Amino acid sequence: MYFELGTPGGATLEIVGDEADETDEASEERGKRREKALGRVRKFVETYVAKGKYGLYPEAEVVENVIQGLTDNLVEHGRMYCPCAPVEESKTKGSAMVCPCVPHHADIARQGYCDCALFASRDFVAQEALKKRR
Ligand code: SF4
Repeated sequence: MYFELGTPGGATLEIVGDEADETDEASEERGKRREKALGRVRKFVETYVAKGKYGLYPEAEVVENVIQGLTDNLVEHGRMYCPCAPVEESKTKGSAMVCPCVPHHADIARQGYCDCALFASRDFVAQEALKKRR
């Protein structure tokens, strides 16, 4: 079976194989699993920012993309593997590349934000806010 779906950007998305063949029930179940996983990721991000020393990267769209990527990895691979690193490589490193990954402290200290641009230092967030006001 083969479907072509239009996307907002005008590109088409092909769905072939398992996803196209799944029953409505299976599709609904998959949707529920993803919603649950998305809720877990959002909760984790919210708590990490509320209780930790970092803020959110100051671009809501970028943050949302990373959250969606973490959710995809949680659903497909069972853990919140970093969405900006190759998952198969991350799997060989135990928990090091599960969000919040081991390198994020050093990355934030160096460039102001983690490599995925999900978390950022409070200073970086404040500086970006100042730039926007000018
Ligand atoms: S780079 Fe950022 S989003 Fe990616 S795993 Fe590390 S802390 Fe999480």
